Order: sequence, then C-alpha cells, then structure tokens
Amino acid sequence: MPLVQRLPTYRHRKYNMKTHAIIPIFIPHKGCPHNCIFCNQKKITAHIAPVTADDVVETIETWLTTLSHVKTVEIAFYGGSFTAIPMEDQTAYLKIAKRYKDAGKVNKIHLSTRPDAINKEILDNLRAYGVDTIELGVQSFDDRVLKLSGRGHDSAIVYKSSKMIQDYGFELGIQLMIGLPGDSMETCIYSAKETVKIGPELARLYPTIVIEDTELFEQYKRGEYKPLSQDEAVERTKEMYKILQKAGINIIRVGLKSSDIINENGDIDGGTFHPAFRQLVEGAIAREKLESQLQAEAGVARRAELTGRAGTARSPFVQEEREKVDFFSNSRNFSNMIGNSGRNKEYFLENYRQYDILYRVDNGLKDGEYAVIIKNGD
Ligand code: SF4
Repeated sequence: MPLVQRLPTYRHRKYNMKTHAIIPIFIPHKGCPHNCIFCNQKKITAHIAPVTADDVVETIETWLTTLSHVKTVEIAFYGGSFTAIPMEDQTAYLKIAKRYKDAGKVNKIHLSTRPDAINKEILDNLRAYGVDTIELGVQSFDDRVLKLSGRGHDSAIVYKSSKMIQDYGFELGIQLMIGLPGDSMETCIYSAKETVKIGPELARLYPTIVIEDTELFEQYKRGEYKPLSQDEAVERTKEMYKILQKAGINIIRVGLKSSDIINENGDIDGGTFHPAFRQLVEGAIAREKLESQLQAEAGVARRAELTGRAGTARSPFVQEEREKVDFFSNSRNFSNMIGNSGRNKEYFLENYRQYDILYRVDNGLKDGEYAVIIKNGD
C-alpha cells in the first residue's frame, strides 16, 4: 500500500454523505520486504509502536461515539499490506472487528493489501472473520511501470488474485496510481481499461506524490524522476475516471488528502497534491461536457469560428450584444460545473466571450449530467 493515514481519521464518503462512514485503522507493515519507490513506510515503522488490540478497540470505540446517526459503518484496515502481515496478527485484528460486526455496531469490514498477498488460506481466514471488501493496491497494469516502481510483482498476479477474491464473493476494490516512473497517458488508459475488464465494485485513483524518505524522492532530487504537473495529473486522472465511471465502477477516492500523508515534517513534494483533487477532475469533466454541448448547440456552422476564437484576445468583431446562455447541473454537481475556485467560469469567460453565461440548477439532471441552452434573441 502506498498510503498511510494518521489516526484517528474519520470521513464521510462523498457519494453517500451522512449515511456511510469509515473507521480507518492504520496497520503499518513492519518489516515489509518490498521496496516500492514511492513508499515511506520503512522509515515510519522504524519509530512507531505496533498497533495493539487495545489500540484497535480504542479507535473503534472513539469513533462509534460519533456515529450513532450513520446508517452504515465500516471498519477499514489501511496502511501496510494487511494480508502480508503474520496470520496470527491478521486474526487478532479481525477478531475484534468481527465482534463489532456481530454485535451490529458496524456493518462491514474492509481492508487493503498487495495483489501478491492473496491465497486460499488467507481468503479462507478473511471469510471466517466476516471481511466484506478487499482492495488491491494494483497501481498499474503496465509491467514496466510496476518494475520501475519496485513493486516486486507483475500484472499477471493482479488478474489471478482479483479472480480469487471475486470467486470467494468478496467485494473487490482496485487502487491505481497516476504518474509513476514510466507511466504515460497510454499506460493510464490501459490500466483503467484492464480494471474495467476485471470488474471491481470499487476503485481509487491516486496521483503520485513525492514524499520525503522515499527512493522516488531521491530520484526526484537527482533529476531522474519528474513529477507530473497538476494539469497533467488532472488530465490523466480525468481520462481514467471517465472509463471507470462509464463501466459503473464506484470511484470512492480521487487524490489524497493532506491527512493521508505521513512524513516527519509533514511536507509534500511534487506538484500533484491538491486538497480538492477530485473536484479538479470532476470539474474538468464538467467543463469538457459543457464545452462540447455548447459547441453542438452553437451549430456546425459556427463551431469552426468558436474554435478559432478560443483563447484569443477579444476580437473587434465580437458582437456587443452577447448571446445569453444557460448552463445547468443539479445542485450536487453545481460546484463541479463552476469548477474549483471558479476555474470553469473563468475558462468560459475567457474563451467564449460572445456568450453571457448564467450557471443554473436543474435538479432533474442526474449526477454528471449537464445541459446547455442558448437563448437566441432572448
Ligand atoms: S508493499 Fe510497497 S507500498 Fe506496501 S508497505 Fe511495502 S514497500 Fe510500502
């Protein structure tokens, strides 16, 4: 797993606000034999105490006091590769989670792990303790990217483990990273398409963050690794998001929050961290949809003219009377339509000066649906 979380961290999932909550329990993978170049767990685990059974109980109890109004609660074991830790440790943690599930205090048990830390014995144990969801830190389906990232496995094991997890009846999640060494728009799209072929219920998309105390950070300092710019990261993630979303995969996370990252100084290096990365991606998708609808509405005859004018200074030939245009989204997607910090509004203001655009709500629209109306002569 590339990501570690400070405890306690509690969040509602955006897609299910106020009805679904996760109690995250960070289980560091002490003594992990792998050397993923983006991971700083070796440094972290060198000086943090192991998580005891009492710690797990305390974390669950603390968060349960705030969750009485929440419909479904999941205990989620994040951090290292849960199923790569010794079996007796897995069982000790799972026993506690199962006790809460059996008592009806939590609804689901969720964990994340490496694709090569799955076998029959492990899955039998997870089933015996009532685990519902297994997320695999796949990162990429491109073998070269996996190799350059020091993952220690190839993509073949991902297909095998995913099938085993699905055959056992667990809910499957797949985590993908964007911008690892050797990664490109093509490998990102390939990874998203291969994910769709496997058909997990859940997915997470994480742009690569360069964290101190990692091999990636050393490569970055030596000039061997160049982090993606924010625009590149958004562009690649957007294309992956569209592929996964079209296939009906629930994308439960896009990008990291600052609380997801632990390092000694709390610093984040590289250009891909943004606290509202998901909104950058969803806003970019909204802009793309609005722009193509606007151009379609404007008509084939005018499309060439609009394209030619995009991004240029105001033409002296732009009519003084600007045409009135309404953009619509439902209220949930309104901020995506406007774009983070109003960036979509700015874009249309700058590039479509012939229009006077009003941003409006139509709750008849579904999530991710937008409508454009040009009010000729109104
Ligand atoms: S498997 Fe890789 S990402 Fe996970 S803890 Fe080990 S080194 Fe870090």
